[in-house]
Amino acid sequence: MSDYRIETKCVQGGYTPQNGEPRQIPIIQSTTFKYETSQEMGKLFDLEANGYFYSRLQNPTCDYVAAKICEMEGGTAAMLTSSGQAANFFAIFNIASCGDHIVSCATIYGGTFNLFSVTMKKMGIDFTFIAPDCSDEELKAAFKPNTKAVFGETIANPALTVLDIERFASAAHAHGVPLVIDNTFATPVNCRPFEWGADIVTHSTTKYLDGHGAGVGGCIVDSGKFDWKANAEKFPGLCTPDHSYHGITYVEKFGQGGAFITKATAQLMRDFGASQSPQTAFLLNLGLESLHVRVPRHCENALAVAKYLKENDRISWVVYPGLEGDKFYETAQKYMPNGTCGVVSFGVKGGREAAEKFMNGLKLASIATHVADARTCCLHPASATHRQMNESELVAAGISGDLVRFSCGLENAQDLIDDIEQALNAI
Ligand SMILES: *Cc1c(COP(=O)(O)O)cnc(C)c1O
Repeated sequence: MSDYRIETKCVQGGYTPQNGEPRQIPIIQSTTFKYETSQEMGKLFDLEANGYFYSRLQNPTCDYVAAKICEMEGGTAAMLTSSGQAANFFAIFNIASCGDHIVSCATIYGGTFNLFSVTMKKMGIDFTFIAPDCSDEELKAAFKPNTKAVFGETIANPALTVLDIERFASAAHAHGVPLVIDNTFATPVNCRPFEWGADIVTHSTTKYLDGHGAGVGGCIVDSGKFDWKANAEKFPGLCTPDHSYHGITYVEKFGQGGAFITKATAQLMRDFGASQSPQTAFLLNLGLESLHVRVPRHCENALAVAKYLKENDRISWVVYPGLEGDKFYETAQKYMPNGTCGVVSFGVKGGREAAEKFMNGLKLASIATHVADARTCCLHPASATHRQMNESELVAAGISGDLVRFSCGLENAQDLIDDIEQALNAI
């Protein structure tokens, strides 16, 4: 599949049926897998042989779908997780533990910010948050001797800042650590971070990849490009023997392209059990088959809505990285020349109260804690996803009280604009 273009990978990647096998990815709805001898089973437990034994660790349906996303991103290995939260947690916790430090963009999804700044902090992992458009000096100053990774979102949810992936990748690599990118909003249709130097990609597949609001899920993909061995002192988990698997060393046994995902599966999925169900993976794959057709339409609708809002005098500001004049327009053009995402952020004149009234007046767009759905939806982050943040954290995350996050679905663009117009008139 590796030579095919993204559209073909969306449709046919990951699963190639043999003679007489099901054309569609089968749902292997089984917790467990049978073996003839204890010896064969034992080899699986030692990671000495390949094979399925228990669906908490691996399931064929999930692996087919992970393999498709892996091809779409241009990686060497991938795994599905139960949610985007689990994907980001695993991606970081796989290489950082108590006493370690991570450099992260401040403009990230509220749930990820909470995971990092509250829950992972309790586990002894320290985070330094920096602006995506910080100076080179600020970026450099964020690193510490115990830094293990740099984290950011291609397009931040909901601040819609765009990460200069090459700049962050070279800073990470200069310090001997990988760049982990959450590519949820851009999707591999619009941006493939590995092509710009990122090392690990994560997704909340709940969003565009599923695309229909049907299943919560996540994914982690490894580019296979990061040289763990060259930085072995920073990554003992990958480069020294794992005593919970009879002393295997992941980089030795599974190579640079397989070590990260194998370790995350063998240790983190084993111990935390954040696995995706085969049913959800099946639904996710239906979404993936049309991703390349849907994403451009989401982007077209969002651009039409952003242009309309920009000209509307009831709107105080509009942020959409695909809109000419946007602070991140040039960066977006570099990394996503074919389109950015379907989400537009804007401020309603009159602040928080007007924003809430506006949202209550919408008929077509529903209020939902969701984005990237076929159906248009909107949210007031300051009172929902980001309500745990204090004022200064909200400012750093790019969230103001009047901010409305508007996720354009696949409806007719003029119908969306008409709906916005009547809701603005009704404030
Ligand atoms: C939604 C989202 C997440 C969390 O994903 P879940 O599937 O809801 O757990 C992480 N990152 C980004 C950018 C998101 O939009």
